[in-house]
Amino acid sequence: MSSPPAAGSLPSPRRFSYDDAARALLVEWRDGERQSIPFSVLRRACPCATCRGELGAPGRFDLDPELRPGEDELADIALIGKYGLKVVWADGHDTGIYRFEHLRSIAAPADG
Ligand SMILES: [Zn+2]
Repeated sequence: MSSPPAAGSLPSPRRFSYDDAARALLVEWRDGERQSIPFSVLRRACPCATCRGELGAPGRFDLDPELRPGEDELADIALIGKYGLKVVWADGHDTGIYRFEHLRSIAAPADG
């Protein structure tokens, strides 16, 4: 059991790891919360302009909701300052920077 974060405080991750069998990113937060985010869910939540669309243009998944080979294949992750996580995909897509509060909102807490 963990108490909810204080109002105004940003979620902060303690550790990232992979669950290869489940094809998911595991996030352990400093408040004790743990999440398992499937790569496919993570990719579809990519916050970059290409995926989200901008200036009235449709986003990547508005045009074609199907994931293509490599698109949900996680290649690398890198911390961006103290606020976000850059995710590199096997298809070369690397423009998505997931702010921690966004990451936190993507998936429900993992069980166990
Ligand atoms: Zn993207």
